[in-house]
Order: sequence, then structure tokens, then C-alpha cells
Amino acid sequence: MTVADGRSLAIGIRERYRDIVSDRWPVIVDPQHDELLSSWVHRLAYANGIAPRQFAGVLGLNAGMWSASLDLRLPSDVAHLLHTHTGLSLRKLSAMSLASSPPRSLLLPLRSNGRRDSSTWLQFCSKCLAEDAQPYFRRRWRLATRVSCAKHGCRLRDRCPSCRSRIAAFDQTELIPQHHCVRCGYDLRRASTLVVSPAAGRLDRCIDDICRLEARTGSLSSSTLARRLLSLPSIAGVYPTTILTSLSTSARIRCFERLTDRPNGWLTVDDDIVAAHWRRSILLAGGHGPLIAQLADALEQKRQRPTTTIRRTPTAELSALLGAYVRMMEGPRRRSSRNRDLTRG
Ligand SMILES: [Zn+2]
Ligand SMILES: [Zn+2]
Repeated sequence: MTVADGRSLAIGIRERYRDIVSDRWPVIVDPQHDELLSSWVHRLAYANGIAPRQFAGVLGLNAGMWSASLDLRLPSDVAHLLHTHTGLSLRKLSAMSLASSPPRSLLLPLRSNGRRDSSTWLQFCSKCLAEDAQPYFRRRWRLATRVSCAKHGCRLRDRCPSCRSRIAAFDQTELIPQHHCVRCGYDLRRASTLVVSPAAGRLDRCIDDICRLEARTGSLSSSTLARRLLSLPSIAGVYPTTILTSLSTSARIRCFERLTDRPNGWLTVDDDIVAAHWRRSILLAGGHGPLIAQLADALEQKRQRPTTTIRRTPTAELSALLGAYVRMMEGPRRRSSRNRDLTRG
């Protein structure tokens, strides 16, 4: 720039102005434990004063189940856009999606035939939502194998108790938080809790522990377990021609309840004797949540750590570890009852 006396002035962008024109969106929300990518995106949109339906346009996406689709596949251009505007790393964004685990076949499908006993794409626990400082939907609520909340001992729900609609936060055109039903405005945190029997809750927990462990060791997608879980309604004799992912939460709970008084060979018998051992150990102890979480995390870190030589953890070590843990937790008194159970089942 030249002034009247002919001198030149250097003009630079000052730091504060650079802040103003930063690529970052005004409000950034932190992902919460086990949060589903779509849930985080809805909260991000709301915090920045944009309704989810309009936010789809911001990301260059069409309407429909746009955010639920992102959970299944996060295109790299959308991932980079979110990274640029929020500063969240691509790894964290990817971890919220369902791209890596669990197996796609066990997820509730996005399609729905509208029937009362058919599945919806997402479940929720009203007590969990009520306790959240910022209500959010969990990744585990997308699984057909989950029917109850381990924390609150209640059944999950998959429909608004007021209008029976599925969760459809992706369709919200008003600036309303995602825990309100899009169709009728009902606050999902107010939904009453329905009790799940202790036996069905235990089976739910055990199946989850088994799936989490086998998903992390990489054996779930290739084993027969996923196929058996899908045919659980037929094994239970409740819905002989329907697969697990097609059923509503209440219909799946009916299957779980029916299976609790039957021998569990359908779940434990496997050609892989080490896998069969893990499953029996988990079932006998009624679930090993904290241990499985630790093992799964350790395996995940091992998988992500860059190494020059790839060495798979021998599965037998895990099996021995689990067995030792079971023996330690059970103590002598419970071990004798466990042996009685073994001879029975
Ligand atoms: Zn809960
Ligand atoms: Zn409703």
C-alpha cells in the first residue's frame, strides 16, 4: 500500500484477526465415552445453532438417514471437513464410527418395514440419557445382540413411548436436542424403565463380553458365532424364520428370556476349543465385563501400535489368563458350584 508521500506501508494480518477468520466452528463438543459418530455430529450441529437436517447440507450430504450412514462409512472428504472445523483427529472421528467393529452383520439395519415387531436402527436407555450432562447415544445401542442396560438393569427401548416412532434425530429441522422425539417432541429421558429378568440380563452381558473379545481377536467375523447369534430367534423357537437383526427390542428380549432356561451349548460349542473355553468361562462367571474391556483394549492398542514385525498374540495365552481370572474370582466355594453346573450343562 502506498501513502500520499510515496512511502510504502507493510500490511500484515494480526493474530487476533486470524483467530476471527479461523476455519474452526464457534463451538466444539467433545466426544463422550462410547459415543456414536451420528450422536456427536447432532450435538455439534445443535451447539453451533444449526438443526441436524440443515447440517447435512453443511457436510455436503443429502437428507435421509445421512448421519446414521456416516456411522457405517465415514467418507474421507467428510472426515477431513469435520477435522478441519473441529480439530478432532481423524483417528478419534473414525473410532466413533462403526467401520472397524463390531461385525456389520450384527448391527441393527437402517431400513425398517414399519411393523410393530420389526427392528429400528437405534436403541436407548432413558436412565442413561437422564444421567448424561449432555445426552448422547452409545455405539453399543446399535447392536442387535444388546437388549438391556447393564448399568441400570433395565430393557433398552427402540421407539418413542409416546408416538411409537423410531429415533430420527437426523431428520430434525428445529433447534431441539437429539433426546427429544422428532415426531412428537417427547423427552426420551422421561420414558419409564422396564425391568429385564436377571437371567436375561446376564445372558445379554455374557454375549456382549464374548462378542467384544472375539471381535478384537479378529475371530468373530470368521467364526460361526455371528451366524448363530443371527439365528437366535429360531434357536429360541420364538420366531423360527426371522433373523435377530430384523426384530424389535421387545421381540429380541422375548428370545433371550426363552433361552435362559435352556442349555447354552448353542453358544459355547465351537470347532475352536480355545474359543469354546472362553465362552464357557464367561458364561459360568455371568460375564467378565471389566476384564474383557481390559483385554480388548490391550489387544486394540497392540493392533494399532506400529511394529516392524507382526506377531499375533497366541490365543492360548488369553485363554489361560481368562481361566485364571475365573478361578480367582470364583474362589473355592463358587468353584464347587461351578463344577456342579459343568456336570449339568
Ligand atoms: Zn442405562
Ligand atoms: Zn414421539
